[in-house]
Amino acid sequence: MFYEVSILINILIKTSGVRLMEKRLDEYLKKYSKQGDPHRSETTHSERRSKRKRHKKPKKMKRSVLRHRRKCKLCGASIDPLSGIPICKNCQISLFQIKTLKNTLRESIMHKEKPPEWALKAANKITEILSNYPEFLAYKNVVSEVVWEYIIDDEAQIEGIEIEDLVSLKYTYKNKTEILQELYKLGIVDITNDRKLLPGKLLQSLLEIKKVYGDNFRSVNWEMYTSAIQAIFMLDITEKHVDAYLSGHKKKNLKQVLTIFKILSRVIEDNLDKTVYPEIFSIAQVDFDLLLSLLGDKKTKLKFYVNITGIVDGKSKLVEDFDEEAHEFKLHKDFNEYIIRMIERIREIERERS
Ligand SMILES: [Zn+2]
Repeated sequence: MFYEVSILINILIKTSGVRLMEKRLDEYLKKYSKQGDPHRSETTHSERRSKRKRHKKPKKMKRSVLRHRRKCKLCGASIDPLSGIPICKNCQISLFQIKTLKNTLRESIMHKEKPPEWALKAANKITEILSNYPEFLAYKNVVSEVVWEYIIDDEAQIEGIEIEDLVSLKYTYKNKTEILQELYKLGIVDITNDRKLLPGKLLQSLLEIKKVYGDNFRSVNWEMYTSAIQAIFMLDITEKHVDAYLSGHKKKNLKQVLTIFKILSRVIEDNLDKTVYPEIFSIAQVDFDLLLSLLGDKKTKLKFYVNITGIVDGKSKLVEDFDEEAHEFKLHKDFNEYIIRMIERIREIERERS
């Protein structure tokens, strides 16, 4: 298995011209492919180590521990049996991040203001990671098509586009009504009584920066705004999916999305009490491995791994380096300010509570 993985990585590196982390990755995957699924828990590394020692205690003790064990409904990590919340702290922070990022982006764009830099950068990276996952592809295609139609045809912005004319909607296997309702609720499109689509409040802002400020498709503004709008619907779909999963209405969890935020949550948790932040945030290899075990089989993990490091396309997204000596992954610098903002917001909430 490792041999195949190694060949695949080599081919990807050669064809895309990416030398990033070649040797280090090779070594990492060697270790990684030998590992089984580790125990998951929301404790620190040293606590986990002492926990493992405790597991060696006589069987009688182990059974009584297991009887009282409660698992997080989202990721399966152990949680406090007395906790009134069915999900672990790491997952709670993940959901907090999703909501905070979505609302920050949405509120700015709705008020025709440029969203803060930290939110735009994070949104850009997150959409790069998620845009090719099938859960979001149908939405992304519809949004792209309507944006294109509105740009090339000014009349379409006033008279609307016939829903039946949308190619991306015609060929999707997803529920068409669900897609349109979702985009309508988010303010991306407006639907007229005679089934035509007009740009919603969110899209109007995007179209305006194109027209009024003369930003072209190559401009940073255009890239940031497009990814902000994509991030808004991806994050919203994720929130709805998590709700449906927790209430038992959906059997499958959106594991890839959750894993991205769980990695960020771990970094946030590790730095929550610090007064000085590192120049670049990082996550211990052991924690990274534990979080990736949520993804299940090796194939899914590999797809996720080559995607977030950028081996697949030469664009580093979530992780920009692996420190061999410290055994830790360096987060992409575009998440620096994002992590600090999230920590500050969590502290604010904690202060308000106390
Ligand atoms: Zn959890």
